[in-house]
Amino acid sequence: MKKRIALVLAIILIASIFVGCAKQAVEPQKEVGNESNDIVTDVLVIGGGGAGLVSAITAAENGANVILVEKMPMLGGNTIISATGLTASDTALHEEAGIPFTVEDHIARTMDMGKDLPDLELVTILAEESNTAYEWLVSLGLSYKLNEEEPWWIIPTEGHYGSQLVNAYVSEATKQGVDVRLETKATELVTEDGKVVGAKVVDKDGKELDIKANAVILATGGFGNAGDLIGEYNPNYAGAHSIMSTAGPTGDGFRMAVEVGAGMRDMEFHQMRPLATPGYWIRESVISEEGIGGILVNKDGARFANETLKPLDLVPEILAQKDRVGYVIFDADVFETKNGTAAVGKGKMIQTDTIEELAEALGLNAEAVGATVAAYNEGQDEFGRETMGKVTKAPFYGVQVAPSSHYTMAGITINADTQVTDENGEAIEGLYAAGEIVGGLYGSGRVAGNNTTENIVFGKRAGKHAAGK
Ligand code: ADP
Repeated sequence: MKKRIALVLAIILIASIFVGCAKQAVEPQKEVGNESNDIVTDVLVIGGGGAGLVSAITAAENGANVILVEKMPMLGGNTIISATGLTASDTALHEEAGIPFTVEDHIARTMDMGKDLPDLELVTILAEESNTAYEWLVSLGLSYKLNEEEPWWIIPTEGHYGSQLVNAYVSEATKQGVDVRLETKATELVTEDGKVVGAKVVDKDGKELDIKANAVILATGGFGNAGDLIGEYNPNYAGAHSIMSTAGPTGDGFRMAVEVGAGMRDMEFHQMRPLATPGYWIRESVISEEGIGGILVNKDGARFANETLKPLDLVPEILAQKDRVGYVIFDADVFETKNGTAAVGKGKMIQTDTIEELAEALGLNAEAVGATVAAYNEGQDEFGRETMGKVTKAPFYGVQVAPSSHYTMAGITINADTQVTDENGEAIEGLYAAGEIVGGLYGSGRVAGNNTTENIVFGKRAGKHAAGK
C-alpha cells in the first residue's frame, strides 16, 4: 500500500513539475509561419517514457535544441511502472561482490532467452554499454545493489524502481533545457524526398502544428495498449486485456514508422501474462506446479482448461471465456509456496474459510464452484491435466485474472546508430528510434531488466546521432 501511495505521489509530482515547466522553464523553440503553426527545432523526440527522455537529454547535451512531445498529461509511459531493476554486466557491484556476470554472460543470456533470434550486433552493443548505462544512473544520484542470487539483476537499494528512474530523467531533462510539451500527440511523420523532416502534432488545445526538425526520434513505446495490433500479428492473443500497460503505448510510433517504409521484425512474439491482475501478474506455478492444487474457473464456476499448459497456451483458453477472464482459486498449501504467498499479497487475492464463501466473494455461483472443486479433488478431469492436486485445506484464496500484454518484443528495425531502417536494411534519413518501439533485442523471449538498459544505451545513441554527433 505504502509503495502504491509513493508511486501515485511520484506521478503527481512529475506531472505537476512538467505542467509548469512545459510552459515556462525552457527556451522556446522558434515558431514560424503565418499562424504560428510551424515550429523549427534541431531534434524532435516523440514519446516521454524512458527512451524518449534519455534520447532528449543526450541530444541536448550534444548541443541540440530539443522538443519532446508526450501525448499524455504526464511523462513516464510504461517505464514508470517498471517494477524490478536493470540488467547490466561487469559492473563495480559484480566486482565488489566477487560474483561475475560478464558481458559475454549477458550476451549469452539474452540470445538464449530469445532462442537466438535477437540481432547479435544490437545485443552486443547492449551488453558492452550496459555498465556505462548503470554508471550513468548512479551519476544521476540513484542507488542500486546486486541481486546476488540472480546476478544479472541490479535493483534499487530502496523505493519504487520505475518512478525513481523517471524522476531522475525528468530532472536531468529540465537541467538540459529540453522543451517538453505534454498532451501533445504526434500524428504523422513529414517527409521530403524520402527524408523525415518533422512531424505533425496536435497540441493540448487541439491545435495542429508542424514541427520541423533535422532529426526525429521515435520513442513511443510498444503496443501493449493496442489490442488491434496485438491481434493482427498474434491472432491467438486477439482480445487481450492491457491491464499491465499505461494508457499511452498504443503503437502510434510503430504505425507512423511503417507508413514511411520502416521494416519490422519478430512480429509473432508478444510477451503476454495469462494471470494478470491490476498491478501484478500471478506466477503460473500456483496452478501448474507438480502436485499443486490451484485451478482456473470461468464465470460459470467451471474449469475450462488444463491449468498446466504453457503460459502462452493458456492465454487463448482464458480469452475464449465469458468476458475473456478467469479466476485463480487455491488453498492454504499453495499459499505456503513462495509464488502463492506473493500472489495473495501482490495479487490482492480474497481469503475465505470455505470454497462457497470464496465463490460468493468473487461473484460466482457458490454451488457451481463447490461442485467443480469437489470433482477436481476426486481426480475428475477432462482437459488432460496429469498433475492433479487438491483444493482442500482452508483458508481458500481466489481472484479474477485476465490475460494481458506485458511487453512488446516485436518492433521496427534499426541499425547500430539507431537509424530506422527499411525492409532492405537501408537507413531512412532523419528518422531514429529507441526503446520498446524497436525490435531486435528480444526475439521470442525477453530478459527482464534489459529494457531499462536498452532505453539508456540506445536512447543515448539516438540522442547523439540525431544531434549530428
Ligand atoms: P519506452 O520504455 O520505450 O520509453 P514507454 O512506454 O515508457 O516506452 O514510453 C512511451 C511514451 O510514448 C508514453 O509516455 C506514451 O504516452 C508516449 N506516446 C505514445 N504515442 C505517442 C504519440 N503519438 N505522441 C506523443 N507521445 C506518444
